[in-house]
Amino acid sequence: MSLKGKVALVTGSTSGIGLAIARALAAEGADLMLNGFGPADAIETERAGLARTFGVRALYNPADMSKPEQIAAMVAEAEAKLGAVDIQVNNAGIQFVANVEDFPNEKWDQIIAINMSAVFHGMKAAIPGMKKRGWGRIINIASAHGLVASPQKVAYVAAKHGVVGMTKVAAIETANSGITVNAICPGWVLTPLVEKQLEDKAKEQGTSVEQEKQAFLSEKQAMTKFTTAEQIGGLAVFLCSESAATMTGAPVSIDGGWVAQ
Ligand code: NAD
Repeated sequence: MSLKGKVALVTGSTSGIGLAIARALAAEGADLMLNGFGPADAIETERAGLARTFGVRALYNPADMSKPEQIAAMVAEAEAKLGAVDIQVNNAGIQFVANVEDFPNEKWDQIIAINMSAVFHGMKAAIPGMKKRGWGRIINIASAHGLVASPQKVAYVAAKHGVVGMTKVAAIETANSGITVNAICPGWVLTPLVEKQLEDKAKEQGTSVEQEKQAFLSEKQAMTKFTTAEQIGGLAVFLCSESAATMTGAPVSIDGGWVAQ
């Protein structure tokens, strides 16, 4: 229980990678502020289950990551009710695919707001408390698309490159305050965000989702295997550990060799 007494705020933790990270941090004893969209009863079942299974305090805040004032209010609520935000995982994200000339302006604005600006607003709200307490871990969930591009993902690639850039800036600014700021850059992880892309592609190509899984993996990764959300959770726990105390400003790839090629 290496994180007992710490409080972790994980955005977009009602599904996929965020939920697995929240679970991994709670398994190490961290109290949780959960966030994300979904049916209220399912979220409440998840919240209560995490609290009971791991013996931690767990709250839920429904902040919309495209609304800066709601992000600041969620950080303030965690500090007021749980005592701190020691670990902040900026994870919420969405996807939309189209060529640049066909990309709807409102999708561009939405992806930039949720996948990029929310990370800035989150860090801005959490860093003062971390500095006061002399300890903090910020983990920004970027992507292999924070380091390299793919077609039809202009907003996502721009946002994730932005996340890697702001991770470095925040890391330098907080380097001697007991705070580390790192970005996790996953390759393919089988979550609802990717399942939708697989289904859309299979429909468009007249293939099966199984065929598209293999095509997605072999097109981008050296290793033809999905990373699991639980493996990303394990990496987040490591970044919070004493072994990672001097690791800061790093984009950490966990991508089956995607960006090595
Ligand atoms: P997911 O769709 O399973 O989960 C996304 C989460 O974000 C959900 O909890 C959802 O409710 C929340 N969310 C979406 N819009 C929100 C908003 N406006 N306000 C608050 N919460 C909101 O997707 P995932 O694959 O788990 O993605 C999590 C992160 O990992 C994203 O930032 C994504 O870009 C990144 N990522 C995913 C993969 C992958 O292959 N799945 C790869 C690299 C990076």
